[in-house]
Amino acid sequence: MFSVDMGIDLGTCNTLVAVRGQGIVLNEPSVVAVQKGTNKVLNNGEAVGFVAKEMLGKTPGSITAVRPLKDGVISDFEITEAMLSYFIRKVNGRNKLVGPRVVISVPSGITAVEKQAVFNSATRAGSRMTYLIEEPMAAAIGAGLPYAEPTASMIVDIGGGTTEVAILSLGDIAECQSVRVAGDDMDEAIIAYMKRTYNMMIGEQTAERIKIEIGSAAPTETETNMEVRGRDMISGLPRRTDVTSEEIRHALLEPVNAISEAVTRTLEKASPELAADLVTNGIVMAGGGSLLRNLTVVIEKATGLPTKLADDPLTCVARGTCSYLENFDLLKNNLESEPG
Ligand code: ADP
Ligand code: MG
Repeated sequence: MFSVDMGIDLGTCNTLVAVRGQGIVLNEPSVVAVQKGTNKVLNNGEAVGFVAKEMLGKTPGSITAVRPLKDGVISDFEITEAMLSYFIRKVNGRNKLVGPRVVISVPSGITAVEKQAVFNSATRAGSRMTYLIEEPMAAAIGAGLPYAEPTASMIVDIGGGTTEVAILSLGDIAECQSVRVAGDDMDEAIIAYMKRTYNMMIGEQTAERIKIEIGSAAPTETETNMEVRGRDMISGLPRRTDVTSEEIRHALLEPVNAISEAVTRTLEKASPELAADLVTNGIVMAGGGSLLRNLTVVIEKATGLPTKLADDPLTCVARGTCSYLENFDLLKNNLESEPG
């Protein structure tokens, strides 16, 4: 039988699919191109991911980009379904006879109705069996944390739209917070700073580039600067200016503090036993937002706990989602092999 097991990280910025035995097989932006003012996905439902991004540059007038999960909630069910269905079909394309088993990690903040919608979409897209898993759990599995053991582990997953903070123990989530402050808000903070300080309008992609190239959460050994291009708000004309990494760090203070506060708030809710475990086990960070320079330093300072990045933070959730099935099978075999 050619049945595929796939784990899908349905992220606010990027969707990743990992297939058991193959690793990450798809990594595309969670973007859909629709006819402006409608929720009709272009190209017969195929204008998704890279294709959608490409179309946008070429025909800006009548087409808009939708990021259906932007703030960690599903803004449009139909568009989300089109996206999920496209990705599942793309991965399972050569394998039409038997539907795949699909595990999808969803932001922990989404409602029961939204979960049901994700579940139904996967089924309609040909999934033979569908399981949903909370994103912090998937991140913990992907990061190799001892989530099933009687000790506490803590994961902070910073994506584009949401930051998920969770304390896990005995295979369950003991405490968890999902805040709508993450990578996108860092970009917005940079846009606002450029307006305020230089009367300059810059685009979202420029802001993201500044963040990735010179952004930081705490002082770095070498400070750098970067040329930024945009539009002068007074003359309306194109212009360039230099910004320093120090300025950008100040611009990022607000979102960085908000993330740090979400972490300390979650810690404050933990029971003394779990808190005691975390003194030695520390905090592991995942998600693209965790790659901001020296963010671990800031979290370590705010909490007093050892803090480090997961291996390959951007694929952590997808890898964890996929191995959930392996663990699930192990569990099932154990149960089946029990006498009686
Ligand atoms: P999601 O799970 O919400 O789809 P991801 O985990 O894919 O999000 O992370 C996407 C976010 O990570 C974006 O805001 C992106 O700008 C940010 N990001 C990616 N690489 C870096 C980097 N090197 N430094 C800072 N932020 C980064
Ligand atoms: Mg994510």
